[in-house]
Amino acid sequence: MTLRRKITLTYVAVTVLGVALVSLITSVQVSRFLDRRAAVAAQSQVDVLATLIENGTLIVDSTGSQDATLSELARIMDVRITVIDSAGNVRYDSNVPRSELGRLDNHLDRPEIIQAHLRSRGRADRHSATLDADMLYYARALRMGAEGLHGGYVRAAINVEELSAFSASVQRIIWAVGLVTIVLLLVVSSQVAKRITRPIQQIAATADAIKGGDVLQRVPVTSDDEIGRLATGINDMAEKLGNDIEKLRKLERVRSEFLANVSHELRTPIFSIQGFLETLLDGAVDDPQVNREFLEKAHHHANRLNTLLSDLIEISRIESGDMKMSFRYFSLSEFLQQVVQEMQPQAAKKSLSLELVMPLQPDGKVYGDRERLKQVMINLIDNAVKYTEPGGVITVRASREGTRIAVHVRDTGCGIAPEHQARIFERFYRVDRDRSREVGGTGLGLAIVKHIVEAHGGTIKVESEVGKGSTFTYTLKQ
Ligand code: ADP
Repeated sequence: MTLRRKITLTYVAVTVLGVALVSLITSVQVSRFLDRRAAVAAQSQVDVLATLIENGTLIVDSTGSQDATLSELARIMDVRITVIDSAGNVRYDSNVPRSELGRLDNHLDRPEIIQAHLRSRGRADRHSATLDADMLYYARALRMGAEGLHGGYVRAAINVEELSAFSASVQRIIWAVGLVTIVLLLVVSSQVAKRITRPIQQIAATADAIKGGDVLQRVPVTSDDEIGRLATGINDMAEKLGNDIEKLRKLERVRSEFLANVSHELRTPIFSIQGFLETLLDGAVDDPQVNREFLEKAHHHANRLNTLLSDLIEISRIESGDMKMSFRYFSLSEFLQQVVQEMQPQAAKKSLSLELVMPLQPDGKVYGDRERLKQVMINLIDNAVKYTEPGGVITVRASREGTRIAVHVRDTGCGIAPEHQARIFERFYRVDRDRSREVGGTGLGLAIVKHIVEAHGGTIKVESEVGKGSTFTYTLKQ
């Protein structure tokens, strides 16, 4: 069952119950009131008649001397008057001619007369055969009276058909109003339920759409009540879900790109080694002119494969968060001196001069993982050596940048065009693939450098001009 129907049904059930209860109570009250009014009227009329008879003002005798007065009284009071003697004979009846009185039954067995006999007053409600109408009979015993009326009874009978008809019509009105109220409330409650459930339906539809993958769907927030908060919650959730999915997609893209790059990079040296070895096996091994050269080339590619694998292991370790860093303070000048010294042979081999400029205080300490930072320096100097022609100069320098220390590695090499500068820190990105491969690059060096620097809370940048040289600068905490 839908929420709307549930709400409507609850409303209707409560309304029907309430209206039925109110109508019932009202109709009972109305008919009771009318009945009481009729009884009180009959009682006072009987009292008037009894008083008049008892004090001798009204004489009811066999000659019917005051029948005219009695019938006039009955007409004015709008009642039927009956006078009965102690033996139960009807002595007068405003609805029966005197000549026919003898034919009437003895009245002592009438319930109102029995009651009046016992308790001086009596009441009965019944259908009168004489008048063919529903009547209310009210009788009173007479304490005095001439001609055997002492101990007799005077009785007033009111026709209650009119009252019952009135009561019934009032009840009909009450029930009709009740019914209209129910119908009205049904319409209203259905509208209210619609108003309440519309935003919930929208939320449900949006949630379904989101479940179906449409994470761009949003619920309109139209109020700041619980439903509004729910809508906002769903929207926030969808937003987060969308972001997460986008992140996952990007990650997946990066992962598959990386995998494609890795297999491509590995394939090149493997194919080369395979080629040289196959040529050797095919007979070149016996040719003293080329056998050594081919073996050396195969060896070179095997070395390259080794370097590539080391870099791959390194970068996947860094990216999976497995890289454990051990931070401590160490002297920067001592550290740079050592690295530069270790790299001198490599620079000298390519007839490059490698210099260290130290404007910092000798005791300038930095906070970091010395081994990892050494790798950074080796990669940067190694690149400078690789991409600088013989005779060039490589300068390592440290400077203060606000609260930080900056380390610069400058070369007079080929430089990097502006459009490549932002991308060289990406994995496998190389400005000139063939040249990089030729000089033994893997395309992972700068990616590793960037990771390590960022793990130190630092940043790395490059300034370069094609043909003039490049300067790589990274910062460290002091
Ligand atoms: P590679 O192993 O190819 O050197 P890196 O990640 O270390 O990979 O560098 C990415 C690319 O950036 C290099 O292929 C090269 O094109 C460019 N590059 C890096 N350092 C320098 C430099 N000192 N001078 C000119 N180009 C450089």
